Amino acid sequence: MRLRHIPGAEEQIAESPWVVQTPQAYKGHWSDKFGNENPIHIEIGMGKGKFIMELAALNPDINYVGIEMYSSVLLKAIQKREGMRELSNLWFMREDARILADIFGTGEADRIYLNFSDPWPKDRHAKRRLTSPQFLAVYEKILKSGGVMEFKTDNRDLFEYSLESIPKAGWTVKMHTFDLHHSPWAEGNIMTEYETKFSSEGKPICKLIAGREKKRTAE
Ligand code: SAM
Repeated sequence: MRLRHIPGAEEQIAESPWVVQTPQAYKGHWSDKFGNENPIHIEIGMGKGKFIMELAALNPDINYVGIEMYSSVLLKAIQKREGMRELSNLWFMREDARILADIFGTGEADRIYLNFSDPWPKDRHAKRRLTSPQFLAVYEKILKSGGVMEFKTDNRDLFEYSLESIPKAGWTVKMHTFDLHHSPWAEGNIMTEYETKFSSEGKPICKLIAGREKKRTAE
């Protein structure tokens, strides 16, 4: 999602009480930022933030970080949050997921969500897919051993690519379905903005959960 540039978006983000302006400063001690030791779940490419805001409201004992790379889109999430009750367990940041290992320490995150990530269908853009080996290597660094990544998409080609790229990178695909909403995993599913749109058009939603068990040495 890339919205038209919104004049003043950067200034509003800089003033927002919900955006971490210098996230690198918290690498390795996000528990200080949240004020507790609860598990950390990250959504990469949160768009307008419906999914992560609903999760944060439902699960006060989990700490959430929503990451979005475009100011115009992050601003929509900030505006949406204004109408909600205060969520002390949710921070936003405007960053490219490429640099996540500069923001989170080794094994600091418990779960990563990727929802309706941009498909980048051309081969020459494969590195930009959020399930490419390049991004998986970043997630591997910041996820704790036994941590998981959850991925939903309507894009069958991207899903099939991911079903290959993820095991190739040494991860285990723990479950997958090509039609989430008509599967046993439908119960408790929280819809994203894109998911609501695509499923209303009758498109099946694919989902997988993958884990990286390997123990890592500290940095
Ligand atoms: N997750 C939302 C949903 O399901 O409704 C939005 C989906 S939208 C297609 C994908 C979002 O991911 C866009 O807002 C885009 O800016 C963001 N994005 C793509 N690549 C990213 C990256 N490398 N780092 C952070 N955000 C990214």
